[in-house]
Amino acid sequence: MVVEFRNEPFTDFSKEENRRAFEEALAKVESELGREYDLIIGGERIKTEEKYRSINPSNVDQVVGFTSKGTEEHAEQAIQVAAKTFETWKKVSPEARARILFKAASILRRKKHEFSAWMVFEAGKSWPEADADTAEAIDFLEFYGREMIRLSERQPLTRIPGEDNELTYIPLGVGIVIPPWNFPLAIMVGMTSSAVVAGNTVVLKPAGPTTVIAAKFMEILEEAGLPAGVVNFVPGSGPVVGEYLVKHPLARFISFTGSRDVGLRINELAAKRAKGQKWIKRVIAEMGGKDSIIVDKEADLDLAAQAIVTSAFGFSGQKCSACSRAIVHQDVYDEVLAKVTERVKNLKVAEAREFGIDMGPVIDENAYKKILEYIEIGKQEGRLVIGGGKAEGNGYFIQPTIFADVDPNARIAQEEIFGPVVAFIKAKDFDHALEIANNTEYGLTGAVISRNRANLEKAREEFHVGNLYFNRKCTGALVGVHPFGGFNMSGTDSKAGGRDYLLLFTQAKVVSELF
Ligand code: GLU
Repeated sequence: MVVEFRNEPFTDFSKEENRRAFEEALAKVESELGREYDLIIGGERIKTEEKYRSINPSNVDQVVGFTSKGTEEHAEQAIQVAAKTFETWKKVSPEARARILFKAASILRRKKHEFSAWMVFEAGKSWPEADADTAEAIDFLEFYGREMIRLSERQPLTRIPGEDNELTYIPLGVGIVIPPWNFPLAIMVGMTSSAVVAGNTVVLKPAGPTTVIAAKFMEILEEAGLPAGVVNFVPGSGPVVGEYLVKHPLARFISFTGSRDVGLRINELAAKRAKGQKWIKRVIAEMGGKDSIIVDKEADLDLAAQAIVTSAFGFSGQKCSACSRAIVHQDVYDEVLAKVTERVKNLKVAEAREFGIDMGPVIDENAYKKILEYIEIGKQEGRLVIGGGKAEGNGYFIQPTIFADVDPNARIAQEEIFGPVVAFIKAKDFDHALEIANNTEYGLTGAVISRNRANLEKAREEFHVGNLYFNRKCTGALVGVHPFGGFNMSGTDSKAGGRDYLLLFTQAKVVSELF
């Protein structure tokens, strides 16, 4: 019997001993920068000529590591090994599979700061953001392990006389796991461990900018005793390796988190039957968001400002849950805008390694250019209030940026920017605010800041997002507490960290015996 799931606590960095321990982890990781990481197929390490050069986005002269880059041949090899290993892995009991996740969680807990430190260097996460990422990774391992045990228990069926009936959840087969770089540990771990604990084997193609942290996690899986071939690690380019894997006739499901365009492309490729393919591939996709915080006229405006700033600028707005639209009632619009601007003035943008920063860099040059382009578009579409360009530093730093008086249909109010840019939109009344909030093609997160009970109840009904928050920020979903995932173009309506998530990686079999 395992103890009840509890979320991993966040580190309290106001305590000096915790800051010191984190500094030590940073120093340790710093001394390990620049190493090489290999592909891992069937437990074997494979080096390739071509390598990913992972750099620190806070300091582009610092190389975090080099990771071998796989080709189509490696993808083929990995999928064959995964298919072969499936035959044995699926027979391992759910409890034994879960135990490997619990073991991995304990190892990760012991190395918590070290893993967070890798994310400070490789993803440019601030200390608390990195710490939350590691805590969430631990949560996913603990949560999905328990979930698999629950699903392996005898499932309730209606009884009829003279028959014994049983329903079991069996695995699907080989999965292709394509995680994002923005939660380079948590989401990668969640997507991989959920598939594997359900009895599937996988080919893991980590996100290009964060291959090192993924390689470090492979070391944990090995240490936890996961048999070779259950997770095959093949970094590689999306259009080459990713597409090859998705199209493969032996791929049974694809678990993807990333942009809308890539998600749609995967869905399209997966829908086409490959020669020799015996099933309809399942696609589990978590895609983008264009998330709004509504501020009502009866509301705690300081709370509203705080919620907007945290949700919009935490990790430089690089969360699909990030607030990129503040939809504010006209009666309080100027006041909220002023309060938010005041807070943004005090945000500290600097290298992620430094303690106490509010915002680090954005992930890479592509993101940097794209966000700066959107800022230029914003200058045509709205009134620039603060920010509006690059920030100082030897990395991809962008100023936290606010545009006011943005039309609800403007590009910066509709397209996912994935950067520290927020559009203020004025609403005539609460109904108008809801109408604006629902006017995008996405439906991931949203928040309402209001003291008006009737309006909150109306939003509960009508605000069409997968994760709706009242009187708080719209980021930071906790495993088990806020199962996470959205509607419409935000994905396939799955809920990571929820009690129905593992079902996505299983199929139900009924055996009925007449006595
Ligand atoms: N689960 C995260 C949150 O609630 C966002 C995940 C993502 O950006 O993909 O903030």
